Amino acid sequence: MNDIQHWIDGKVVASTSGRTAPVFNPAKGEQSGTVALASVDEVDAAVASAKAAAPMWRATSLSKRAEVMFRMRELVDANRKEIATLLTAEHGKVLSDAMGEVARGLENIEFACGVPHLMKGGYSEQASSGVDVYSIRQPLGVVAGITPFNFPAMVPMWMFANALACGNTFVLKPSEKDPSVSLFLAELLGQAGLPAGCFNVVQGDKVAVDRLLEHDDVAAVSFVGSTPIAKYIYETGTANGKRVQALGGAKNHMLVLADADLDMAADAAIGAAYGSAGERCMAISVVLAADSIADDLVAKIEERIPSVKVGAGNEPDSEMGPLITAEHRDKVAGYIAGAAEGGATVVVDGRRPEGDPGFFVDPSLIDNVKPGMACYDDEIFGPVLSVVRVRGYEDGVEMINANPWANGTAIFTRDGGAAREFQFDIEVGMVGINVPIPVPVSYYSFGGWKASLFGDTHMYGPEGINFYTRGKVVTSRWPDPAHSTVDLGFPETR
Ligand code: NAD
Repeated sequence: MNDIQHWIDGKVVASTSGRTAPVFNPAKGEQSGTVALASVDEVDAAVASAKAAAPMWRATSLSKRAEVMFRMRELVDANRKEIATLLTAEHGKVLSDAMGEVARGLENIEFACGVPHLMKGGYSEQASSGVDVYSIRQPLGVVAGITPFNFPAMVPMWMFANALACGNTFVLKPSEKDPSVSLFLAELLGQAGLPAGCFNVVQGDKVAVDRLLEHDDVAAVSFVGSTPIAKYIYETGTANGKRVQALGGAKNHMLVLADADLDMAADAAIGAAYGSAGERCMAISVVLAADSIADDLVAKIEERIPSVKVGAGNEPDSEMGPLITAEHRDKVAGYIAGAAEGGATVVVDGRRPEGDPGFFVDPSLIDNVKPGMACYDDEIFGPVLSVVRVRGYEDGVEMINANPWANGTAIFTRDGGAAREFQFDIEVGMVGINVPIPVPVSYYSFGGWKASLFGDTHMYGPEGINFYTRGKVVTSRWPDPAHSTVDLGFPETR
């Protein structure tokens, strides 16, 4: 049994809270370890360590901070397989997918290596006579990250790479469902030369989260998780005077127009709906099929489903693994059970018989879904793809724009004009044109609109640098004291 503890002040610290949670191997459905759940005192110790390290780290030169990121880049690159194996064991996603997660996380460390350029300010000479004005960006101090179970490596990297490079110190509260990767990343940061105290991990649940949200020494909170918790984090954190970015859940639609290549659209739908067992905030969970091609498209998706190889994440052939917990498996199965009663057509039912080992639900396909049905209205977060039939472009766009979530969306078409119109009309934060999972590269920023994001800063990329720094503007002059006079007028520039 793994015994998963905190990382405070540069080392593993055994919890004394007396509270723990089980960690599972989802492919077997068996407990594989126990994770500590921090007490308020343990969170305070992590924040105190980050606070003590902050003045030194902030004063460390840009090149030195970049050098730590360059070394971290090399270490994560060299340990891709180890990180992926660790996260597959606790999350359940297949190894190839876990490798993809590490690769996309690594891009954020690579972006942060450019911090000397990214933190450059502006300079205006002679803004007034003999007066120069310049802007600088400075770190916030201690910042916290609270992360979800579905990307235990990538989402922390979205946050800490930029936060640390900008000169902040960091406290991470990872998901208690797959906590081991966070400790491995902490070790690598230490090996990369990050001084003790700059990066801390508190394992835990609501107790730890609430303490971070109210702690006077935490300046900002980055959160990724479900919408109700994102809203709570945003409201509580901002009420306590913190800067907060809180990314929530999703219900991503893929609009397939009548002119689309249907084989390509079906291939894309399979990958985007069932990859990582649908436990991606950018997964496609609804296909909006133009009426005239809907029967063909559903048939093409259905005929591909049996070839998806479902199995334990560490088996070389597996393409799709189990869900994270037994409770989540049962919840996902409940949506399939309820779909037919609600009037939809269950084309492929992926529920497994009771007693089947592991937390598996096989790829499932539900046709004739409509708004108002639970399988349309809720975020299922499992391998369940719903098909809604629409008259065409306008109908599809109207439905996407009426949805409360607005994380990602995609259009499949061969009509460039329709795609251009879609990009312009659609009220969603991340848009794919013949790209089903349009996760932005690390030099853009990631974030949805509406109920998929609380706060106004998207994550990582240029917006991440803005989030983790605050602006200061300096106005300076070096006049000859011999000409100094008293002037009570408001300073003018002309
Ligand atoms: P979650 O909201 O249950 O948990 C996220 C974090 O919040 C965890 O660290 C958890 O310990 C903590 N938490 C849970 N309940 C809490 C409470 N009552 N009070 C305080 N803290 C609490 O999310 P999850 O199940 O781990 O992750 C899946 C969800 O995350 C899905 O909704 C998915 O769409 C979303 N997600 C969104 C994005 C995005 O970028 N928008 C990315 C990944 C995942």
